[in-house]
Amino acid sequence: MERKRATAILLAGGSGTRMGGSVRKQYMELGGKPVLRYALEALERSPVISEIVLVVPEGEQDYCRREIVEPAEEACRAAQSGGKVRAIIPGGAERCFSVLNGLRAIQWPCEVCYIHDGARPFLDGETLERLARAVADGGTAVAGMPAKDTVKLADADGIVESTPNREAVWIVQTPQVFERALITEAYERMAEQYDALRAAGVNITDDAMVVERLMNRSVRLVPASYRNIKITTPEDLLIAEAFLRG
Ligand code: C5P
Repeated sequence: MERKRATAILLAGGSGTRMGGSVRKQYMELGGKPVLRYALEALERSPVISEIVLVVPEGEQDYCRREIVEPAEEACRAAQSGGKVRAIIPGGAERCFSVLNGLRAIQWPCEVCYIHDGARPFLDGETLERLARAVADGGTAVAGMPAKDTVKLADADGIVESTPNREAVWIVQTPQVFERALITEAYERMAEQYDALRAAGVNITDDAMVVERLMNRSVRLVPASYRNIKITTPEDLLIAEAFLRG
C-alpha cells in the first residue's frame, strides 16, 4: 500500500470547562502524565503520520512546548520516532475554528489530514493503520463504533421525536481523515457561511458534518475502538484510569 503524506491536526484548544476544576482537561494527569501527551505520543510513534500541528489555547504555546511536546518527544526518541511537531498554534473560539487554524498552518507537502481530539488519549496504532488503508485510494475515513445504547432524537423539552434503528447508529470519534484539498475547501466554506449555519441552528461538532453539508461528499465510517473515549466529564477520567490499569 502506498502511503500518503499525512499531517495530523491535534486539537487541544478547548477550555475543558465541562470537567470542572481549575486545570484544563487536556492537561489533567492520567497515569502520571497529562492527558494530551497520550494522543501526541501515539501520533509521533505511528508511521502513518509525517507531521503534526498542535492546536492549543491562545497564549499557551510555550507552556505546551515545554510540558507536553518536549517530554513526548523525549519519550519517543528511544523508539527512533518523534520530532514531528511542526507547529504549535492558537485555537479559535469554537472547535471548528481551531481546525480551520490548524489547516491554514500546514505549510509543507501534505496529501491527507488526520484531525484528532487531544481529549482522546487511547488512540492506537492499529486504528491509525486501518484509517490509512481506508483512504489509500482516496475518499474519507471517520473513526467510530456502532452504538451500544438506543438513541432517541428529542425536542428542546425532552419529548421524543423519533428512535433511529440502532443497527444504523454509530457513535463517531476521531481521528477523522480527509484529503487535504477537500477538508481545506470544506472548512473555508464553513468560515464563509458560519453565521448562516448558526442562524439555521447548525452546531458544528465534528469534521465529517462539514464535508457532508458543504461538499456534498459521502463519508465512510471505519471501526475504531470502544476504548477511544473522549475525556469530557470527571467520570471519563475514572474510566480512563481503569483502562490504564488494564
Ligand atoms: O468540546 P469538545 O469535547 O467537543 O472538544 C473536542 C476537542 O476539540 C478537544 O480536544 C478540545 O480541546 C478541542 N477544541 C479546540 N478548540 C476549541 C474547542 C475544543 O481545539 N475552541
